[in-house]
Amino acid sequence: MTPGAEFFRQIDPKICTDCGKPMVEMHESYLNQCDKCLSQTEHN
Ligand SMILES: [Zn+2]
Repeated sequence: MTPGAEFFRQIDPKICTDCGKPMVEMHESYLNQCDKCLSQTEHN
């Protein structure tokens, strides 16, 4: 078994639709943007 596969299975990695960076934060997992881009969007 590969520990890496288990790791990715659990975190369910997402990619920020704005900057394209992978998001590892578990909170706000329902969003498609990282915290940084979300803040920029709010200020717009
Ligand atoms: Zn982003």
